[in-house]
Amino acid sequence: MNNMMPILFVGHGSPMNAIENNKYTKNFSRIANGIKRPTAIACISAHWVTQGTKVTSMENPKTIHDFYGFPRELYDIEYKASGSMEIAKKVQDLLLPISVELNTDWGLDHGTWSVLRHMYPNANIPVVQISIDYTKSTEYHYNIAKKMKLLRQEGVLIIGSGNIVHNLSMIDFEKIETNYGFDWAIKTQKNINDNIINNNFEPLLNYLKQGDSFNLAIPTPEHFLPLIYILGLKEDNEKIEFFNNELVGGSISMTSIKIS
Ligand code: ZN
Repeated sequence: MNNMMPILFVGHGSPMNAIENNKYTKNFSRIANGIKRPTAIACISAHWVTQGTKVTSMENPKTIHDFYGFPRELYDIEYKASGSMEIAKKVQDLLLPISVELNTDWGLDHGTWSVLRHMYPNANIPVVQISIDYTKSTEYHYNIAKKMKLLRQEGVLIIGSGNIVHNLSMIDFEKIETNYGFDWAIKTQKNINDNIINNNFEPLLNYLKQGDSFNLAIPTPEHFLPLIYILGLKEDNEKIEFFNNELVGGSISMTSIKIS
């Protein structure tokens, strides 16, 4: 496995993490420093949900400030990584016969740049984003991820960016800066982590049938599905390293995973 790039799932949490220097963002930097320099980055972000699977293919993806009511400082950030038509076309080829659109109007949303800003602050590695097709089953996402394994051998760092437990309507804003989780969030976080460690992905692919705690932890699919991509890319014998494995505000997990 040594010639293969690791894969990452990152819990991005609040957009504020983009400008903060906290224990979570320090770990983003630390993890990046421990990985050989990627030739390119392909990110599946919770914040790009489309009909059909798309991949960004523009030369200079714009920085998208896809959030509301945050400090000015956050809107001033530009993450000026270049794109990569070469990687976009490779994704398109690998996913055949599924038709993948080469997209020219998205860019980098905060699911991608709020984390990459800490991992690769110089923005000197090309980045593409791959969208999440909301019309498709969990198995679809798992299976198309498997088809992208070749990218790992070519030095591409594939990142899934979401939050495994993500319920914004239940959030306790007084505890947003605190390591605090509701019981159902703690229970689901542990259950998911155990299943990942045991390579038991079946319950995760069927997360909609796992009962009340799961339903509260994953009320909508978009922040969970980036994890499914990473599980699809994982080989059986690979090592799993959890970091930022905490809950904030009761209902958001920062849990992040390096697989290598
Ligand atoms: Zn998010």
